[in-house]
Amino acid sequence: MIDVTIIGAGICGALIAHKLSKFNLNVLVLEKENDVALGATGANSAMVHSGHDPKPGTLKCKYNLLGNRMYKDVCADLQVDFDQIGAYVVATSLEEEQKIDVLVKQCIEREVPYEVLTGEQARVNEPNLSDNITKALSLPTTAVVTPWLVTMAAMEESMLNNVQLRLNYEVNQINKKDDYFLINDEIKTKVIVNCAGSHCDDITNLLRVSPYKVETKKGEYYVLDHTGEQLVHHVIYPVPTAKGKGVLAVPTVHHNILLGPNSDFVEDKDDVATGTGLDYVKRELSKTIKNVPFNKMIHTFAGNRPHIDLNDFYIQEDDEIKGFIHVAGIESPGISAAPAIAKDVVENMILPKFSVALKQKYIKRKPYINMAKMSKEEKNDLIHKDPDFGKLICRCEKVSLGEIKDVINRECGATTIKGVKMRCRPGMGRCQGGFCEPEVVKIIQKQLDKKLEEVKLDKNNSQIFTAYAKEDL
Ligand SMILES: Cc1cc2nc3c(=O)[nH]c(=O)nc-3n(C[C@H](O)[C@H](O)[C@H](O)COP(=O)(O)OP(=O)(O)OC[C@H]3O[C@@H](n4cnc5c(N)ncnc54)[C@H](O)[C@@H]3O)c2cc1C
Repeated sequence: MIDVTIIGAGICGALIAHKLSKFNLNVLVLEKENDVALGATGANSAMVHSGHDPKPGTLKCKYNLLGNRMYKDVCADLQVDFDQIGAYVVATSLEEEQKIDVLVKQCIEREVPYEVLTGEQARVNEPNLSDNITKALSLPTTAVVTPWLVTMAAMEESMLNNVQLRLNYEVNQINKKDDYFLINDEIKTKVIVNCAGSHCDDITNLLRVSPYKVETKKGEYYVLDHTGEQLVHHVIYPVPTAKGKGVLAVPTVHHNILLGPNSDFVEDKDDVATGTGLDYVKRELSKTIKNVPFNKMIHTFAGNRPHIDLNDFYIQEDDEIKGFIHVAGIESPGISAAPAIAKDVVENMILPKFSVALKQKYIKRKPYINMAKMSKEEKNDLIHKDPDFGKLICRCEKVSLGEIKDVINRECGATTIKGVKMRCRPGMGRCQGGFCEPEVVKIIQKQLDKKLEEVKLDKNNSQIFTAYAKEDL
């Protein structure tokens, strides 16, 4: 019998699993895709918002504020990047300046550090801000992270401490028995935590009529290369509107720039194609930023926000079905809020159901090997020990064979081209895998003993090879 089954391996599911992994509990994570973090967690603005913006009194507001304060320590614990670069919310008219005044009031009430700057003062630090900007709200506690690496690290460490992860496992049946649940007619579990993102309502509907309906709002982005002068150094927000936080410019932890997102409802919850949303992004961006170097654009992507009709997160044990916990409607600021959500769900909703102790022995994960961050001496030392670290596979992002082998041969390791790319960046650079992708395919094949046709680009339906063109290859 499983104690706690978590459905969905996005950032919420992974951080809940990670907190539970510290206790003597039998924990299982079920994920329908072939890797973790392939839902909203894998495609977003990658920001830890300061908490200045959510509506007062909402769960979004509560968990964003708490999460922002926890993030630095969470990332240090998981040994993943956290960069507190700060943000400017910029106004271009008197009406927008008044919206900044409202945000200032919220910052004061919420004890969010801030500073108000004139347009000229803001342009001293950010010369590419539009000349129309008259006022800026500086939010120094805004940070950027790599949300999928937070997720992968949390899941890896959980697995090192006996949490089970079953990938390619779609939950499509749940029956409530006397004191346990039966999932897909085979898994018995005392507690279920529903972290299924856009599909949270589908999961709940397997048991009862869901108290919420998830609709997805797509957000599309451009990605700029990190070479040359960086466009902006802070996150640049317009003033928020009823539609959300607006089109941003976000410097990532790797110094790429994300430009986006739009926010449009889409029928298909898993439709992440890019298209006309990008025209909107370009138009909106021109109001806040000038000199945008679109010739440095190397990639576009989209992610879907799981929006529920209640307009807030829905995080609680089910009113009717004890042992079934909802972590639903986790749209923005879900990345920012995730550590605080995990803490609350584990400490206040799960642990009181079990009388368990902390594990005596806990195994810490080792960070991914990242030669880009090493000194020349450290690199030489590593290459001396293992020459695979001297074999460059990705020229744009300078990733070696040794680093790629490392991210494959781990708990929660990569099994696809995208899985390798997300973990150690081959294909993230200017050529977008044009040079390195065939090599990455061969490495995956060799390390995982797969046939060529079995190597996937990302999700299971993303087959890229059908057969060899020449038989002797
Ligand atoms: C465009 C965009 C921009 C955003 N920007 C930010 C930002 O800058 N800062 C911020 O704080 N937040 C941001 N967010 C919000 C944030 O990305 C989400 O709130 C967060 O990733 C949600 O995580 P999750 O774990 O709840 O869901 P997900 O990451 O979606 O994970 C759900 C998982 O459940 C799995 N699943 C679904 N159904 C089943 C099933 N039947 N069986 C098994 N598994 C199943 C899915 O495959 C998926 O892996 C943004 C979101 C978007 C889309």
